Order: sequence, then structure tokens, then C-alpha cells
Amino acid sequence: MKGLAVTLKTMTRRSHTQQYPDVAPELPPRSRGVIALLTENCTVCMLCARECPDWCIYIDSHKEEVAVAGAARPRQRNVLDKFDIDFSLCMYCGICIEVCPFDALYWSPEFEYAEYDIKDLLHDRDHLGQWMATVPPPPAHDPHGEPAKEETTAARKAAAPTSSAARPTVVRPEPGPAAPRAAGPAASGVEPADPGPGPADDGGAPR
Ligand code: SF4
Ligand code: SF4
Repeated sequence: MKGLAVTLKTMTRRSHTQQYPDVAPELPPRSRGVIALLTENCTVCMLCARECPDWCIYIDSHKEEVAVAGAARPRQRNVLDKFDIDFSLCMYCGICIEVCPFDALYWSPEFEYAEYDIKDLLHDRDHLGQWMATVPPPPAHDPHGEPAKEETTAARKAAAPTSSAARPTVVRPEPGPAAPRAAGPAASGVEPADPGPGPADDGGAPR
């Protein structure tokens, strides 16, 4: 009777089966689906490739010279030639996105990129760039949270006095006659310390 009661109770309970793929699942906004690349922000610093624990980011670049007005010599800058991520190796740890100092990598919640051939899971820079359209906007700031460190630094810089009138005046002593030297040891009655054997004491041996 107890087993029958459990069966009846389960039969009347509402089903929670997700009807995927007929109905798209409602994913959390920060879901880790695929990595998107904003090529314009990438400076080819190689941090992401170096920190990736799976070594599945492949970057290639070349240098080119850029003439800068007023500079004595042309500057050099890196130009991105290749940026591939192999999603057959990626373990979705997110380290590459966290270490990127130029906000060039983002999580996209898109996950429907399964392939019949594992080689097709290597996404090149164009493919990674296409995912940028699916990156959700960043969440709004918590009105009760602490302001970001960058915001407080910028506000402090803006509030800092910039005109010379507002700066504290540094008082320097006027140049005057040279101060008299302190009396020597003879005057003070103190014998000078023995300087020790000098170069002449070693018999002038060649070194
Ligand atoms: S998410 Fe992790 S494993 Fe995947 S590419 Fe980035 S650093 Fe590498
Ligand atoms: S860390 Fe960012 S800027 Fe540096 S190579 Fe990777 S994607 Fe480009």
C-alpha cells in the first residue's frame, strides 16, 4: 500500500521536464556557453593564451610601424593575424576572460554549436567575433553596492586641485654665504683614526 501511495502521489505531481529543443531553455544571464572575441580590443598581449590551462588558444600576429606626429621614431604595434580557440579542448574555466586586460573576451550563453566533426570545434577569429552579437549587456550596478574602484579613482582625480594656485607652496631656503666648516680633529683634540696600510705599504707589488 505504501508503494502504491508513492506512485499515486508522483502521478499527480506536475512534470518539470524541459521540452528542449522544442522550447528553448531559460538560462541564467551569466551562463558559460561559448567565448566571444571583440577583435578591436585585442592587443595580442598573449596573456589569455599563456594562462589557458588547456593550451587551446592559438594566436599569431605581426608587428607594423605606425608614424606618430611629433615622435622621433615610428612606433611599433602588434597586428592580430590569427586567434583560434579549440572548443574540443576548452574546459570553460573562464580564466582567459578574467585575465584579458583589454576586455576582448566575453561569455556568450549560446551553446548550440555541436558539430559532427570534432575539427569544426576550432573557432577562428571571425567565428569568435560572430558570437559577440549574442553577448548579453552587463548587469546594472547594485545601487546599494560599493562603487567600482575605477569610479572612485576617477572621482578623486577630478576633485584634485590642478591649478598652480591651489598647490601648496614649497618654501626653499635662500642661498647665503657658505657655512663655516666644522673644526678639524686637531682642533677638537681627537686623534684621527689610523687609515691602515695604504698602497705604498704593500711594497708596491704589482696587482
Ligand atoms: S575557458 Fe579556460 S580552457 Fe577554455 S579557452 Fe579559456 S582559459 Fe582555456
Ligand atoms: S588577453 Fe585579451 S588582449 Fe591579450 S591576447 Fe588575449 S584576448 Fe587579446
